[in-house]
Amino acid sequence: METVGRFAPSPSGRIHLGNILCALLVWLSARQKGGKVVLRIEDLDTARCPRRYAHQMEDDLRWLGLTWNQGPGVGGPDGPYYQSERTALYQAALEKLEQKGLVYPCFCTRAELHAASAPHREDGQVVYAGTCRNLTAAEAAEKAKKRPPALRLRVPEESWGFADGHLGAYEESLARDCGDFLLRRSDGMFAYQLAVVVDDAAMGVTEVVRGADLLDSTPRQLYLYDLLGLTPPCFYHFPLLLTADGRRLSKRNADAGLDALRDRSSAPEILGKLAYLAGFNPSAEPRTAKELLADFRWEKVPTEDIRIPEGLF
Ligand code: GLU
Repeated sequence: METVGRFAPSPSGRIHLGNILCALLVWLSARQKGGKVVLRIEDLDTARCPRRYAHQMEDDLRWLGLTWNQGPGVGGPDGPYYQSERTALYQAALEKLEQKGLVYPCFCTRAELHAASAPHREDGQVVYAGTCRNLTAAEAAEKAKKRPPALRLRVPEESWGFADGHLGAYEESLARDCGDFLLRRSDGMFAYQLAVVVDDAAMGVTEVVRGADLLDSTPRQLYLYDLLGLTPPCFYHFPLLLTADGRRLSKRNADAGLDALRDRSSAPEILGKLAYLAGFNPSAEPRTAKELLADFRWEKVPTEDIRIPEGLF
C-alpha cells in the first residue's frame, strides 16, 4: 500500500521552527517510503485562521522545499483541502454518531466547566465532569431556549491504546483521562478531534506524523475511527522543540517565527539546523530536504523534548 503522509497546520500565524520540523518529518517519513504528502489546512477556526495566513504558510513551505502532492494550489482527488470548506463531511460523521445514541447536548459555560470539581489534564484541559450527560429531553429542550448547546461524545469506561511508531506504547482510559469530549462547539464549529479523523480517513492518510503534544489526542481519535467504521493510520509523535529556556514555541510570541529567519537564512540552513537538533544531520551544516532523505531514520530522533540552543538560528 502506498504511504500517504500529511501535514495539517492551523494557520493562526506565521509558521515557527516547530511547525517546520513537523513538515520536514512528515515529508521525509513519507518520501523515504516512496510515498506522497498531502497538505491540509486546519482552518476550522476561521476567525483565528484567515486565508492570508494559510497562503503565507503555503508560500513558506514551498520556499523551504517541503512540497506536497495533494493540497492547496496542487489539487487532488480528496479536496477541498481547507477544513473550513469540508463541514458537510463533519456533519455527516456527526449524524452517524448521533444515530448510535452517543451524542448529547452540553449547556455548560466555560466558567461552569472549570468550576466543576473535575480533574485537569496535564495540558490544562478539563476532564468533563458529565454535568449534562443525563439530562432528559425535556430538560435539554428547556435549556436550549436560553443557550445553544455544544455537542459531546459519550465515552465508555474503556482503555484505548496504540503502538506509536516513535514513542512506543501509549494508552489512556477514555472515561477517566479524557471524559466525554466535544464534537461541536456551541457556536457550531466542529471540533478538531472529529474533523481530523474524518479528513485523514477521507484523504487516504496511512501515517500521521505530529508533535508529542497530540499524543494524548490519539486514543480519542482511535475511538472515533472505530465508531465511524474507518481504518486508522499509523502514528508517529515526535518531541517538541523548546526555547533555550525551556518554553513551548508559539506563533503568538514570535518565538522562532519565520518572519526574520527567512530574511537572514537560506532554506537549507534552516533545515540543516533543525535536522541536526532532531538527530539526523551529523552537524548543523545546510542540507536540503532531498539531501536529508538518505540520513533520516526515526531511531535517530530523540524521544525527549529538544531545546534550541541560544543563537543557533
Ligand atoms: N492542526 C493541528 C496543529 O496545527 C495539527 C493536527 C494534527 O497533526 O493532527 O496543531
